[in-house]
Amino acid sequence: MQCLRCRGLLIAIHMRDMGQPPVSGWRCMLCGAITDPGIETNKVNPSLPTQNGARLPGSSPVRFRKARA
Ligand SMILES: [Zn+2]
Repeated sequence: MQCLRCRGLLIAIHMRDMGQPPVSGWRCMLCGAITDPGIETNKVNPSLPTQNGARLPGSSPVRFRKARA
């Protein structure tokens, strides 16, 4: 299997995260790119961003006014 970024050799790896079951994926021997079935699925069907009150990129920062005494 070849890396989509550099066409390097991909090797199978097992990734572990605390409290999560291990996930099988691939790591490129040349550029170090790591991918797994979940990453590939998200590339094909990206989910819409959730609204959480964070500023949008490029928007002006929020300015607070001092309370009048
Ligand atoms: Zn690569």
